[in-house]
Amino acid sequence: MDQHSPVYLVGGPVRDALLGRPVKDLDFSVEGDAPALAQRVAAELAGKTIVHPRFGTATVIAGGTRIDLVTARRETYTHPGALPQVTPSGIRDDLARRDFSINAMAIPLAGDAAEVLDHWRGLEDLRLGVVRTLHDCSFIDDPTRVFRAIRYEQRLDFRIDQQTLAHLKNSVDQGLVAVLSPDRLRHEIQRILEEENPAPAFARCLDLEVLQAVHPALNDLGKLQRLAAGIGDIGAEIEAEIPMVYLAALVSDLSEQEGEDLIGRLNMPEGWRRIVRDSIRLQGMAAELNDESISPSRLVRLLEDVSVVAVAAMGLTSEDAWVNQGLHRFLTELRHVKPGLDGRDLLQLGVPPGPLVGRILGRLRDEVLDGRLDGGAGADAGRRRLVQELMADTIVGPVGAEAIGDAGHG
Ligand code: ATP
Repeated sequence: MDQHSPVYLVGGPVRDALLGRPVKDLDFSVEGDAPALAQRVAAELAGKTIVHPRFGTATVIAGGTRIDLVTARRETYTHPGALPQVTPSGIRDDLARRDFSINAMAIPLAGDAAEVLDHWRGLEDLRLGVVRTLHDCSFIDDPTRVFRAIRYEQRLDFRIDQQTLAHLKNSVDQGLVAVLSPDRLRHEIQRILEEENPAPAFARCLDLEVLQAVHPALNDLGKLQRLAAGIGDIGAEIEAEIPMVYLAALVSDLSEQEGEDLIGRLNMPEGWRRIVRDSIRLQGMAAELNDESISPSRLVRLLEDVSVVAVAAMGLTSEDAWVNQGLHRFLTELRHVKPGLDGRDLLQLGVPPGPLVGRILGRLRDEVLDGRLDGGAGADAGRRRLVQELMADTIVGPVGAEAIGDAGHG
């Protein structure tokens, strides 16, 4: 590596290594040109580089590891919630711009002895289990640190230092959370949702009135807590989306209007919006879902266009055992049921091309779901008879016109 550009391991990996916790991603600070160094590291490791020249930062992705490199900098803030103004500088300034003492330590890569640069009592705070800002205006400079403090406190089972907590509360009282841009606010919420168990961090946010500052209706975490307790039962298919399942549990008791307000406040991308809207809509179906006489076909027709993330969240958080059971069955079994014939089969059986094909497929699937046809594939006698009957009836069968949709293709 370049002799003139000292490199330091900084922040999260230093903290986690000292705590004996697994280190996921590597963060380096470079007293020099971080993007240029990143290109060289990527070439060595046969990895990929993403460079942000304007910010003097770069990411190398190599062999499943993410390595962030940043040009050491000094940061100043013009007003609360603003992005900082950045000037390249040395490691000391780079550590001084950081959020908490436990995140403001560095290990120089040069030299034989492993030395920890610790100008802010980070080692002591790690030992004491304390989250402490580096100065009194930290939350005013950057109110996202309110969320970060809570996240580290809950993740590491630490305590926010008393004076730091007083400043945090002060910044919340001054309305600084409201000053954050929708995208920055959403990013913080997302980081909490991505915690292994987001429930304690959200509970602490509620305690400290931080969550209410995001939206006043976010004031009941019962479902989130039930979800955290039952998350082990989530199916493998949905496992990768666990953060979004937590989002669904967080918002499902909101009214439609509150959901829309929250979508706007966080400038939610399409995927999030769908989950918020579907979770609220699903909540509105609770009474019907709790009806013990609901048929499998009705269950599928109700749920098939609802996001599976929202269904999984309700299935793990509803206090009605019947709802839990029905939604679980939908996710693991019913939603995969096929009509046994496809569109081409129907054309061969004489069904005219057009919407009738989809309707008949939907009805065939209903029959399989409700056990009136077997689950096999192929134009057996039962299926042929039903197709003929439905064609003859021009498709207004016993299930009723409103239940006949385009479901069941394939
Ligand atoms: P995590 O385990 O949550 O990923 P991390 O410490 O790696 O923790 P990042 O959000 O990736 O966290 O940030 C990397 C480092 O950048 C932090 O350790 C901290 O030193 C610094 N940092 C990040 N966000 C801020 C902020 N808002 N204010 C000051 N410093 C910050």
